[in-house]
Amino acid sequence: YPTERIRNFSIIAHVDHGKSTLADRLLELTGTIKRGHGQPQYLDKLQVERERGITVKAQTATMFHKYNFHGTEISEGQDQPSFLLNLIDTPGHVDFSYEVSRSLAACQGALLVVDAAQGVQAQTVANFYLAFESNLTIIPVINKIDQPTADPDRVKAQLKSMFDLDPSDALLTSAKTGQGLEQVLPAVIERIPPPPGKSGSPLRMLLLDSYYDEYKGVICHVAVVDGMLHKGDKISSVGTGQAYEVFDVGIMHPELTPTGVLHTGQVGYVVSGMRSTKEACIGDTLYHSRSVVEPLPGFKPAKHMVFSGVYPADGSDFEALNHAIERLTCNDASVSVTKESSTALGLGFRCGFLGLLHMDVFHQRLEQEYGAHVISTVPTVPYIFEYSDGSKVQVQNPAALPSNPKQRVTACWEPTVTATIIIPSEYVGPVITLCSERRGQQLEYSFVDRYQESDLVKLDVLLNGQSVDAMATIVHNLKAQRVGRELVEKLKKFIDRQMFEITIQAAIGSKVIARETISAMRKNVLAKCYGGDVSRKRKLLEKQKEGKKRMKRIGSVDIPQEAFHELLKVS
Ligand code: GDP
Ligand code: MG
Repeated sequence: YPTERIRNFSIIAHVDHGKSTLADRLLELTGTIKRGHGQPQYLDKLQVERERGITVKAQTATMFHKYNFHGTEISEGQDQPSFLLNLIDTPGHVDFSYEVSRSLAACQGALLVVDAAQGVQAQTVANFYLAFESNLTIIPVINKIDQPTADPDRVKAQLKSMFDLDPSDALLTSAKTGQGLEQVLPAVIERIPPPPGKSGSPLRMLLLDSYYDEYKGVICHVAVVDGMLHKGDKISSVGTGQAYEVFDVGIMHPELTPTGVLHTGQVGYVVSGMRSTKEACIGDTLYHSRSVVEPLPGFKPAKHMVFSGVYPADGSDFEALNHAIERLTCNDASVSVTKESSTALGLGFRCGFLGLLHMDVFHQRLEQEYGAHVISTVPTVPYIFEYSDGSKVQVQNPAALPSNPKQRVTACWEPTVTATIIIPSEYVGPVITLCSERRGQQLEYSFVDRYQESDLVKLDVLLNGQSVDAMATIVHNLKAQRVGRELVEKLKKFIDRQMFEITIQAAIGSKVIARETISAMRKNVLAKCYGGDVSRKRKLLEKQKEGKKRMKRIGSVDIPQEAFHELLKVS
């Protein structure tokens, strides 16, 4: 596959807006997995993901899709060109945004999925900015339009006002009913640029992720940025300086599928005899041994916000726990691990996590995937203490602090965050209470759907010089002329000629901006009745009377109901 026919994209969204379901549909649409394979959220492979219904790990799948790019001429008998699409499903929860930013490094575009009923939520905003800062092409996808409370227009307005995304770029889909899904892959191919790498340059691969497989050993997910990788190649790591031979190379389609080669721009897997997971450093650059390359920019190191001790439930299991943690951190590079010992619990580890959910998921994975039984200590945030000798230390374990701190500690600091909270106005009160309970300080307060100063005027409608209050509207000054014109024209059409002349005017204050007249006419319903059939004449007169009932008499002018209805359509 030449790079022009490769697209690397990711799906980002707030939790539960339908990323994983959309990923399923795209995998089905391209025949990568069978329809009704009986396992929804296909890419959520971990037990913890299936139990909690959330995505924890970013997962990659390669799909192939035949598509006529830009509608280029295809000669008869020739197939539409096939595109290689790498889809990276990412977690939505804030604790896993580290996974998201890593995945985005291998992408040129992202589908920003927003629930049509819920609209933009906290993680929509956070993930949008991750993608925006990575310079990705963003395709807004308004999903779940099948829901009765779906309001795609409101979501479009949010996308415009919050992210300056063009509402006409948004795709409307239902990953549940399949509606609108046919637009997704064409949009990916047409709008997202191919990967920018150079196929003629020496190989450079970004190590995106890794995990341990009982049979194959360490499996690395890589993005080939420049050059090409073949089975049997000798590669080296910039980070560790170690060299390896490539035993197996291929794509996730969606299971590991050997291809023997990875081209520029492709995302795939590499098995290279790395023994310890410590050798697979996420963000590392891999290159052909003996060649000289500039290392790729790695990833920002994860910021650990919560620390807790992890000890084997049975003190003698330390080695087993060590092994389990080493394997698991290979698949979750955002955890920091240092050895520590406790008088009460013996030998163990102090682990740093991105948040409490991350910590929970880590413990659950240790038990479920590695059979480790652990005791974890009360989580703490990292504090900084200054001692009387002037030294400053970050304390991640309460036990490390002298029990009588007053004697030696001269100052202490706690971490804070500057947060933007976007909430419906009815929750403002409770949320402010919650924040102040946590000693939060309110720095700023503003409305997202705020009012802005505008040049508004009252547009009056006058019938025979008399203003009709029920027909008055408030419009922007720039639109007043056009709206006034349309109003009087509509009214002229719907008001019957009457026995006297009627003038219809639209005016702003005393200034008339549009005017029509309806000339007088004596309307004689009996005109067509010749002869003296009295009963027929009476019937006609009664009918005319009934007609009058549906009229509204304003001043001396009769206005039919339809005129009012039609006026509503002018804006
Ligand atoms: P994720 O957290 O963004 O990965 O969301 P999931 O794909 O796990 O979906 C969350 C829930 O929304 C699941 O129960 C899905 O079945 C449901 N869902 C996803 N897409 C749609 C849709 O288009 N319409 C409706 N009604 N439900 C959907
Ligand atoms: Mg998911």
